[in-house]
Amino acid sequence: MITIDQIDLKNKRALIRVDFNVPLNDLLEITDDTRIVATLPTISKILEEGGSVVLMSHLGRPKNGPEDKFSLRHIVKHLAQCLDREVQFADDCIGEEAFKRSSSLQPGQVLLLENLRFYPEEEKGDLDFAAKLAKHGDLYVNDAFGTAHRAHASTAIIAQFFPGKKAFGYVMAQEIENVGKVLHSKEKPVTAIIGGAKVSSKLSIIENLLPKVNHLIIGGGMAYTFAKAKGGKIGSSLVEDDLLDKASEILLKAKKQSVEVHLPIDSLNADAFSNDANTEITDIMAINDGWMGLDVGPETSKMFKEVLLKSRVILWNGPVGVFEMPRFSQGTKDLGAAIVLATEGGAFSLVGGGDSVAAAKQFELDERVSYVSTGGGAMLEYLEGKVLPGIAAILD
Ligand code: AMP
Repeated sequence: MITIDQIDLKNKRALIRVDFNVPLNDLLEITDDTRIVATLPTISKILEEGGSVVLMSHLGRPKNGPEDKFSLRHIVKHLAQCLDREVQFADDCIGEEAFKRSSSLQPGQVLLLENLRFYPEEEKGDLDFAAKLAKHGDLYVNDAFGTAHRAHASTAIIAQFFPGKKAFGYVMAQEIENVGKVLHSKEKPVTAIIGGAKVSSKLSIIENLLPKVNHLIIGGGMAYTFAKAKGGKIGSSLVEDDLLDKASEILLKAKKQSVEVHLPIDSLNADAFSNDANTEITDIMAINDGWMGLDVGPETSKMFKEVLLKSRVILWNGPVGVFEMPRFSQGTKDLGAAIVLATEGGAFSLVGGGDSVAAAKQFELDERVSYVSTGGGAMLEYLEGKVLPGIAAILD
């Protein structure tokens, strides 16, 4: 893997694609700077080695050109504080002023370009737009894992203008390395926990993971489709009737590949989709009419914990209940706690993809697992086994 550690940075202008798509409040203040903080080691390394830095990113989803609420100007002050140095700003990523600034950058200086998505050409992967952006740097560094699954001008297309002069930043390198630890692990057993709402959105992940894992824990809304496929009565729980055959097929495939599948045993059911609903715990195969399963039950949590404590490598994607409502969060909390316990016992644990990251943060487990992925959609596609354009463009 080519990272910034393998290229000469001295007196070079490094054009870095970062993911500064941070949430802003109504006062346009940053409410979570995780993504900015994540890229600081890459930026600092380049500056320390005598290079200068041109940063480019998107922010939000501007529809019709420039809009103040999506301006990256709002993050300049915070970024300057984080880096403890001045950050110049160019208010048009391919404007005259931007090129004037980037061409006169001195070692140690930092320039941030305005939101790339003010140009529709960015998301279209326009070659001419990418060529213009490329003029800002002597080197191209991709450190935006969150957009690595997109073939946009700045994330993939631009790389062709930097033959032999392109590399991954540390965020990208870490993501690739840590997913690799799960997908190509020599240590066994490997356990994947796949939860979340629907089977349909996790089908490709499950199919890609089957040859790579020893245990597959299934929880969340999608577990009820599996329970029904096995002949269970699931009341009014979430179900995808068109995927019943597919669910049975997955169970059969898993058996053929000697993967142990662990489906919930008991279910915490509610008579309404509400935190104030009446609840009861039943066997997941015997849910009464009018009741819906919104969390796994205590027997299931115990069983999941036993599997996790004997695992050496753990991947967690998706909550096992409606964790946003306190009444239905226990199963996900217990699962997170079991992953932490396994990690403390020496297992490698990776939390990745959307809601499991939110759950880990909500229950303050994020600092206690081995690695939390920064890229929701990108991580999902990576786990599905897809080639991510942002990664392929650097490796080309
Ligand atoms: P996903 O984005 O597919 O990972 O799904 C995450 C969502 O699944 C969360 O918002 C959970 O509230 C939801 N979820 C988890 N378990 C259930 C369940 N038993 N019934 C309905 N939704 C669920």
